Amino acid sequence: MTEPDTRPQQVIRGGHVVTAHDEGAFDVGITDGRIVAIGAPGTVTADRVLDARGCIVMPGGIDPHTHIAWPLASGGTGHDDFGSATARAAAWGTTAVIDFVPGRQGSLIAAAEERLEQAGASVIDYTLHPVITELNAERNAEIAQLISMGLSSFKVYTTYDSRMETADIRRFIRVAAEAGGLPGFHAEHHALLTDALAATRTHGPTTIPRFPQSRPGHTERASIREIVGFAEEFDSPVYIYHVSGLDAFGQIQEARSVGVDVRAETCAHYLVHDDSAYQRKDGWKYVITPPIRSQHDRDGLWQAVADGTLNAVASDHCCYSLADKSAGFQDFTAMEPGAPGIASRMPMLWNFGVNSGRLTTRQFVDINSRIPAETFGLGDKGRIEIGADADIVVWDPDASWTWSVGEPETANGSDYDIYDGIAGHGRPRYTLSRGRTVFGPEVSGAGHGQFIAQRIR
Ligand SMILES: [Zn+2]
Repeated sequence: MTEPDTRPQQVIRGGHVVTAHDEGAFDVGITDGRIVAIGAPGTVTADRVLDARGCIVMPGGIDPHTHIAWPLASGGTGHDDFGSATARAAAWGTTAVIDFVPGRQGSLIAAAEERLEQAGASVIDYTLHPVITELNAERNAEIAQLISMGLSSFKVYTTYDSRMETADIRRFIRVAAEAGGLPGFHAEHHALLTDALAATRTHGPTTIPRFPQSRPGHTERASIREIVGFAEEFDSPVYIYHVSGLDAFGQIQEARSVGVDVRAETCAHYLVHDDSAYQRKDGWKYVITPPIRSQHDRDGLWQAVADGTLNAVASDHCCYSLADKSAGFQDFTAMEPGAPGIASRMPMLWNFGVNSGRLTTRQFVDINSRIPAETFGLGDKGRIEIGADADIVVWDPDASWTWSVGEPETANGSDYDIYDGIAGHGRPRYTLSRGRTVFGPEVSGAGHGQFIAQRIR
């Protein structure tokens, strides 16, 4: 523990602090957005004092997968913007998000600059994963340029109209690896999905209860197997978005066992819900790709979250409205897959993780902050340590909540919510982004968020 040379500008006092190496009763001093002191209770003094008595003081959460103000297939965009969505994230403890540069024709650099300008309205810090939909000489050069700009992690779709075919996936991994980036994938094998959907159709209608069988786990497994093969060939790290269950995760573990650097996230909805949701009257809400899987898969994912073999728990937030989803109420093939979840991610992870005895506080901090910061090269984020960014949440474990779609306080920003009605406890008293209070009394965070230049390796 270090005593401050000079008096910090503010101190978080009286909390139970989860530092990078330790856990206990400490005061945390902050100056100019950085942590400058961690000392025994009462030893750090400052003009501004945040009362953390009864609270856990931990690094803010990192959500590595959001689609804020996202272009929808039906036209228009999701019903939020970077200002409102990140304010909701901050209100529930998240202090950094990684969103995307939508894939498109033309200059990817221009697309990235446009998206960075939009993201400038954020309340918390942010970076972006560029989506790559095609490869050519220009794209290859742009990938290297994006990495030098600090946009170092990418996303490629293996299905949908914007997908890359096998030969391009292999080429992309080689190009990204040579440039020092982290190639990432929405991994569902397109040909096998086409086959599974055809089989589903021969046995009945494409109604919501039959959605999961149209996208079985083996399609994820096959896609990941292909990707990790190329990762091994080019000695490249790879990232797998939204791992839904044990078919996918088992393939990742197999690849790791032979030395491939596979990093992967799951999402809050795969941890909170199981596939019985599709049998419900409002089963349409849960049409998300890949689908939510069985209770057995859910248990396996929780184990991987606890032991840190997954790298993050993301929201995959996409702010559809009920009207956007309604086209597919009777036919899942007509529905835009996805759900809002940027605010609920962290309280759900806490409630179903720590409160349910599945995670210790340390394991929660690892999966929610430390590991994602390391995975994506987010520099001084993800830990409470002298010199680190003061991205800190003062978390009241006793504060109870009932997630209610109609309440502004608990909203993910839409008029429907897959967590509606769930009750739990644990929420922020304060959220600080580089020392600035972005949630709590005396909030002063609008437009405070800054771009984080990633340094993957
Ligand atoms: Zn997504």
